[in-house]
Amino acid sequence: MKKLTSIKTRITIWYTTLMFILVSVVLAIVGSLSYQLSIDGIENDIKAQVSQVSERVRNRASKNIFYSVESSKEFKNVSVYLEDGSYVVGQYLYDLSSIPFKEKLRRETVDGETYIVYDEFKPSKPGDNRGYWIRGAESVNYTKVLGRSMFMIILIIIPIILLITAFGGYYITRKAFLPVNDITHTANEICTQNDIKKRIPINPYGREDELYKLSLTLNKMLDKIEDLIVKEKQFTSDASHELRTPISVILAQGEYLLDIADNEKEKELAKSIVDKSNQVSKLVSRLLLLARIDSNRQKINKEKVDLSVLVDIAADGMRELAKSKNIVILTDVSENTIVNADEALLLSAISNLISNAIKYGRESGHVIIKASKYADSTEIVVSDNGIGISSENLEKIWGRFYRVDDVRNDEYGSSGLGLSMVKSIVELHNGKIFVKSQPGKGTEFRIVL
Ligand code: ADP
Repeated sequence: MKKLTSIKTRITIWYTTLMFILVSVVLAIVGSLSYQLSIDGIENDIKAQVSQVSERVRNRASKNIFYSVESSKEFKNVSVYLEDGSYVVGQYLYDLSSIPFKEKLRRETVDGETYIVYDEFKPSKPGDNRGYWIRGAESVNYTKVLGRSMFMIILIIIPIILLITAFGGYYITRKAFLPVNDITHTANEICTQNDIKKRIPINPYGREDELYKLSLTLNKMLDKIEDLIVKEKQFTSDASHELRTPISVILAQGEYLLDIADNEKEKELAKSIVDKSNQVSKLVSRLLLLARIDSNRQKINKEKVDLSVLVDIAADGMRELAKSKNIVILTDVSENTIVNADEALLLSAISNLISNAIKYGRESGHVIIKASKYADSTEIVVSDNGIGISSENLEKIWGRFYRVDDVRNDEYGSSGLGLSMVKSIVELHNGKIFVKSQPGKGTEFRIVL
């Protein structure tokens, strides 16, 4: 069974249950007390009526003891019998002559019905055996009916109280928790839209409670994070700018040294300088491109690009590298697969995927580049049969400077910036990039534009 995780639901269940117990206990106590009180009342009333009628019998006020209408009403629980039990005159409607007389307040059952009964004997003359039995009685049924109707009222009252408690309480808790929805919503937006500028709405419900304070604090934290991110991006951008010129100079001088080198040793040293400078230059260009895309400063010159041509250019540019590992590059793009994109950026993205496919491809393996046009999208797929990527690394490879295997990747002069650059370029085109991989079998990158 699914666990109830909503705090609102749990709070509602908790206090509704508590309310149910509370109301039941209170009503049970009140019910039993009032039942006891009404029984006590009946008993006292019967006793009082009996002793008053007994007084009248002594005074022989009238032959018919209940001579007036008022007294009929007054002594409605009393009847009078002779000493042998024969009925003289009576007020109540039930026949209780079968019950033996006893000067004691008690309960008696006749035909399944319970009565409260109290008798008093009044001798004709003091000490005489003859005289009158005065009997007071009342059916407990009356109290039962009263109890039953009370029970019915309770049955109606409890659900009504519980419904009001549950709905009212849920409504209040839901309102109180509205800022939590806002916080979740903003956090989700920041994650899905990668927009750290989003903020939690402050006090839209006009309540300055704890959640209002939490929203303020979280917004302050977001300000701090945004500030740090902006500073970090600015630093990357500035550093890359500053590095560009000296690296170009080192590269140019390294190439010059390579030209004028006299012997193998000098050539080797000069080549190493050129190679490493090229690597750093590429890294700086990537950093600059990423910094520009991040700060929305990267211009995008969209034009109609023929993918069959672009893929060929990218593949040709990589054949030299492929040869070093005896890898075959195959392309499969039908002519006139046209896409609206920035040619230079898209070329850079595809070249990067091909270069990765070769770097992490198997010796004498293959790299396949396909491009297909669909009704409302264009797909470019670069696949290889290389080392593959384990599932725990699949999400991480898009991170900046993330390399799965630091030692091995150093051989290729990897920086861990390639895929984040590809992703940024694809997203700049409002596209998406997906990866599928099986370790040891190969990897497939799919760009959807
Ligand atoms: P790098 O400069 O290290 O290649 P990338 O951002 O291009 O940086 O790639 C990040 C990591 O993803 C790489 O270090 C590599 O381990 C892994 N990777 C990328 N492409 C492939 C591929 N085609 N096959 C296997 N692993 C790959």
